[in-house]
Amino acid sequence: MIDNYGRNIDYLRISLTDRCNLRCIYCMPEQGVSKKCHEDVIRFEEVLKIIKSAVPLGIKKIRYTGGEPLILKNISSLISETSKIQQIKDIAITTNGILLYDLADELKEAGLKRVNISLDTLKEDKFSYITRGGDLNKVLKAIEKCISLGIKVKVNTVLIKGINDDEIKNFIDLTREIPVEIRFIELMPIGEGEKLYKSGFMSSEDVLNEFPELIPLESSKSSTASMYKLIDSKGKVGFISPLSCKFCSNCNRIRLTSMGTIKPCLHSAKEINIREYVDNEVLLTSVLKDIIYNKPSQHHLECDNKSHSLKMMYQIGG
Ligand code: SAM
Ligand code: SF4
Repeated sequence: MIDNYGRNIDYLRISLTDRCNLRCIYCMPEQGVSKKCHEDVIRFEEVLKIIKSAVPLGIKKIRYTGGEPLILKNISSLISETSKIQQIKDIAITTNGILLYDLADELKEAGLKRVNISLDTLKEDKFSYITRGGDLNKVLKAIEKCISLGIKVKVNTVLIKGINDDEIKNFIDLTREIPVEIRFIELMPIGEGEKLYKSGFMSSEDVLNEFPELIPLESSKSSTASMYKLIDSKGKVGFISPLSCKFCSNCNRIRLTSMGTIKPCLHSAKEINIREYVDNEVLLTSVLKDIIYNKPSQHHLECDNKSHSLKMMYQIGG
């Protein structure tokens, strides 16, 4: 559906939980988050009803995220049920990859074709530091397995000055040998990221200037990443620049949080509770239509140096 600013909104990102098995330093507090009451968290049946009500409005792409979506039991059956909805052409997940190796076969069988895996370092000690205890090898094994199963892999790497900027070349070099898309993401001043932002922010442009060997590629209009590649490489390199080169005018997405609210913009405080309408498909479609039409024109992160979102990244899913 076309919104008030002429953008075609066809993408729904769904955060299934705000719980996680890691505690990344730019995302979650060290002590984790207080556990939500079971009834407060959206159920898979409700998620499917919301997707079905969004489909008549032109939603074609679904991404499951979190928190960590793979800690949820029956995630594969949710993917399988989603893939039965004819109008949904693309189902992806965003995961930290820790549990992915063991789940990859059943996720593939359920219909998963694409996965974004967050990985900010290729060094074991640093991985444990950034994620506060995660095991790098599990993620590397998962990447290898997904590739061997034919699941398309994108790697999300949040760049933080003084923490992983010494590894940019190593990440780019990975694309020479394996068919992955490495996507460097600018650190955003949201959640725990707000504390690191002042000292840690690096713009995509600064990074690109250091790698003139990256050849620009054409990116699709709604893509949030500017794409590049090395000559003769198997993979690609993307830059996601929500601050230095914001993509709001091409934004094609809305977000559903695990509490059942829709966030029409990642960094706006605006949230609309739609859980109360899940049993009335017609009404739900009409509420969603109104939300999409009135999606804000843009965020103001770059002026305010802080997000206006009332939810953190682990509650929204990125
Ligand atoms: N747990 C899953 C994962 O890590 O992929 C999904 C949820 S996580 C919130 C989604 C994405 O948000 C990850 O790629 C993560 O790196 C990114 N993210 C979290 N906090 C961020 C921040 N302050 N700035 C930029 N990206 C952030
Ligand atoms: Fe968990 Fe993902 Fe946040 Fe890391 S970025 S703490 S893996 S939700």
